[in-house]
Amino acid sequence: MSLIVQKFGGTSVGSVERIEAVADKVSGFVDAGHQVVVVVSAMSGQTNKLIALANEIMDTPTPREMDVLVSTGEQVTTALLAMALHKRGRKAKSYNGSQVRILTDDSHMKARIREIDDHKIRADLDSGHVVIVAGFQGVDENGNITTLGRGGSDTTGVALAAALKADECQIYTDVDGVYTTDPRVVDSARRLEKITFEEMLEMASLGSKVLQIRSVEFAGKYKVPLRVLSSFKDGPGTLITVEDESEMEAPAVAGIAFNRDEAKVTVLGVPDEPGVAYNVLGPVSEANIEVDVIVQNVAEDDTTDITFTVHRNDLKRAEDIVRASAQSLGAREVKTDGKIAKVSIVGVGMRSHAGIAATMFRALSEVGVNIQLITTSEIKISVVIDEKFLELAVRTLHSAFGLDSTDEE
Ligand code: ASP
Ligand code: MG
Repeated sequence: MSLIVQKFGGTSVGSVERIEAVADKVSGFVDAGHQVVVVVSAMSGQTNKLIALANEIMDTPTPREMDVLVSTGEQVTTALLAMALHKRGRKAKSYNGSQVRILTDDSHMKARIREIDDHKIRADLDSGHVVIVAGFQGVDENGNITTLGRGGSDTTGVALAAALKADECQIYTDVDGVYTTDPRVVDSARRLEKITFEEMLEMASLGSKVLQIRSVEFAGKYKVPLRVLSSFKDGPGTLITVEDESEMEAPAVAGIAFNRDEAKVTVLGVPDEPGVAYNVLGPVSEANIEVDVIVQNVAEDDTTDITFTVHRNDLKRAEDIVRASAQSLGAREVKTDGKIAKVSIVGVGMRSHAGIAATMFRALSEVGVNIQLITTSEIKISVVIDEKFLELAVRTLHSAFGLDSTDEE
């Protein structure tokens, strides 16, 4: 017998029919002898609807009241799922975050979980209940309702699995696993059987939005085996787990991630002296603009160039800030480009394989893709290119690293 935490996302509980289907699935696991804790999201679209209602009243409601409002979506689905299980003759009990006592800090709308009291859940499991917990919400020390940020039910699922030392945390969603790249871009993208937490973090932060990033960090930290699978289609999904040192034959590259939302700012001809990078980028970070890739050139004369990328929505603000500081720094020119994309190859196998970067650059050059910026980390190589080459680059790299599915599959 194992203890499984199953999290069902908004589309999986998007209607009464779907909730009934979830009840069937959960019942199957109970029949197989497992103890099951279910975490549910709100019905798809519900959280957005609640936010829109609030905004009809005012633009900036207090975060405390927003949390009282948006946490209601998940309370609805917990109760409906409990009823659907009762109808099937199962024992089931629903809890909201404060009833369990999922204790969080007091940062409304982006709270972090501090502690989970597992007493009631354990007692219910021991007496044969399915325990259903509202995702996305908790309670602070003073009893205020808090929420964990959009997509936060994934984090609730993983945190509960960690607290209960569950054998597996299963995240049911509308895709059947994590793919080598976005199947909408590459037809031959394959579902991965397995991926490491580290790789998943790189894939997720680069735009393969299957799981809330925080939930993956959490799972990695507590080593909770995480499985992403479809609630509509049977199959093993993708297991996200620790690196298996015994797998000598691990492929060098697990997947190709990409991001089309970036923009580039270049400051040309800044004096090459201490403090320049700080003077260019300090004001940008003070404005809370997240900077991704940063490249500074080797100075040829007494000046240098600094290039960095930001989210496209922040380009105008970043540009204004940099133009102001460029002037006082005596820079020659500021240029921006809102039509770039970033493509990355990701894989823990890179640590032990040589020549990965060369393979990447050769493949891109063979199809005439110009590389504007390059950055590397231990398990990732990213290039910034013209956005018009994005799909070509992703497809090219996908086959260059042997990721295309074969016909037998
Ligand atoms: N209902 C919340 C949202 O839409 C939390 C979640 O679905 O994970 O963001
Ligand atoms: Mg969701």
